[in-house]
Amino acid sequence: MNTEVLVVGAGPVGLTLAIDLGRRGVRCTLVERKPAPEFLPKMERCNARTMEIFRRMGLADGIRAAGLNRHVPMDVYIALAMNEPPLLRLPYPSVAAAQALIAACNDGSMPREPYQLISQYTLEPILKSAAERLPCVTVHYGHEFVALSQDADGVTATLRDAAARTVEIRARYLVGCDGGASPVRKQLGIQLRGDGNLLALHQALYYAPDLFARIPIGAGPGPGRHYHIADGQSTFLIMQDSTKHWTLHAVVERPTEMAAQFERTIGVPLRYDMLSVGEWKQNLLLADHYALGRVFLAGDSVHLVVPTGGLGMNTGVGDAIDLAWKLHGTLRGWGGPQLLPSYEIERRQIGDRNVGASRYASLGRRTWRSQYRPNIRDNTPEGHATREHLVRVANVEQRKTNEMIGAELGYRYCGSPIVWEEPGGPEHLFRDYVPSTWPGARLPHVWLDEGCSVHDVIDDGYTLLQLGRSAADTSGIVQAMRALGAPFAVRTIAGDAPRDVYRYDLILLRPDLHVAWRGNAAPADPAQLAAVVTGHLAPPWR
Ligand SMILES: Cc1cc2nc3c(=O)[nH]c(=O)nc-3n(C[C@H](O)[C@H](O)[C@H](O)COP(=O)(O)OP(=O)(O)OC[C@H]3O[C@@H](n4cnc5c(N)ncnc54)[C@H](O)[C@@H]3O)c2cc1C
Repeated sequence: MNTEVLVVGAGPVGLTLAIDLGRRGVRCTLVERKPAPEFLPKMERCNARTMEIFRRMGLADGIRAAGLNRHVPMDVYIALAMNEPPLLRLPYPSVAAAQALIAACNDGSMPREPYQLISQYTLEPILKSAAERLPCVTVHYGHEFVALSQDADGVTATLRDAAARTVEIRARYLVGCDGGASPVRKQLGIQLRGDGNLLALHQALYYAPDLFARIPIGAGPGPGRHYHIADGQSTFLIMQDSTKHWTLHAVVERPTEMAAQFERTIGVPLRYDMLSVGEWKQNLLLADHYALGRVFLAGDSVHLVVPTGGLGMNTGVGDAIDLAWKLHGTLRGWGGPQLLPSYEIERRQIGDRNVGASRYASLGRRTWRSQYRPNIRDNTPEGHATREHLVRVANVEQRKTNEMIGAELGYRYCGSPIVWEEPGGPEHLFRDYVPSTWPGARLPHVWLDEGCSVHDVIDDGYTLLQLGRSAADTSGIVQAMRALGAPFAVRTIAGDAPRDVYRYDLILLRPDLHVAWRGNAAPADPAQLAAVVTGHLAPPWR
């Protein structure tokens, strides 16, 4: 074998997967078709859950340092132009303000980390450097995946290097993180289903070094991250992390029109360069399968959403960290035969739900945009009515895009063979997050001391939390997990706050901070529980 895991595609998802595999000591090779990371705009917001994940990888501080200044508000505006009074302001806290809110809250309802605005072209080089620093990760840019074959022991991938030479790599497992067009998915014959080509927009990237300092321009909107222009072309201005770069999306006929569109949006003369223009299409698509044999798929290769709800890359990062520990467990022998199949069961339902969340958000945006009329600027009763009506609808509908904390933090794995299920369970909500330790859910963040969360004292393996004044005898589960050779620790958490939020004395967590089991007394059959959560035994009810 050349490597244990071959990761195809060094977008944010492939890079995150390679880092998490490398941290766990899995030998992994990452291949990327491009010669180097590109300076092209795509995503710009890591959501709260992604930042929690990056914190556990030791990357959060570096990402914040490279991202948007922590004091800049994350407000979203609907406006006619940047130099005209905004029609609607939806205020969202800066990172600094969000951190203060989180510091003052201990009811489990807030994330450990707030979101961070960082442009994908800034994030990818940070992740690339982190992957390259790990001794068991090998990173090859300028290597294009061409074909694969698999057998009982592994996968053979054919690659083409920068000099057009054919290279073969043999791996125990291969993961396609190769984006929406995914050559790996196509090789497996797996289809994407749903709604494709919903809307075609042009996106341009501008260097406008003076724009941020000039905001507000006259009576125009204040500093924020998104400026939706109420017009008939779905025009949408996005601040990038440096505040000197901006992107504009709009429905136009020709790329050259994006210069005039930017000038119209800004409304006043301004020094700028248009650095790139491209066309992209909105899709709401989900793959039929996330795996075939020894080949797995993650990120945009299996789910494509409308980006402005911010569930594209963020869902893919969730895929990566679900898969990494399962590959590690299987390769090291402590994971049983149910472990890797649980990846598709757990993550495809989240992909499906997030495609649904994105549909809900984009329908909301379409609804308020459909209130636009060409008389929107008119100083007439009809013009006034158009503005008033659009604002009233947008004040409800635009929030669907920006207030998705339930989809970000509240996802729970249902029907998983490695979760000790309880019948029923809280409803899945896109908009609201209700902290819960229901099996399958992410462990809510609760402070232990100032600056130290329960999350911060949990290692990268399985963890049994023993809470409050519990005196349960945990020796049975300790022995059972150790007998399987799974990485495992017991953490005693004495204070009342975590017990009050978690509502159980004992919580067994998986390496990804999701709850595998909970109870108030030691498990009746610890060997059976250990075998289920490590994938050696199907749950007794299945
Ligand atoms: C305008 C816009 C705004 C967005 N905003 C957000 C946001 O705020 N938040 C969010 O979460 N998401 C956002 N997204 C979505 C986000 O950009 C994608 O979900 C994300 O890039 C997916 O990451 P990925 O690693 O799965 O795929 P990609 O980023 O597409 O990376 C795939 C990689 O695989 C490589 N590759 C492809 N074929 C091969 C091959 N044959 N061999 C080797 N390598 C190959 C590609 O070169 C590429 O580097 C936005 C998208 C757009 C277009």
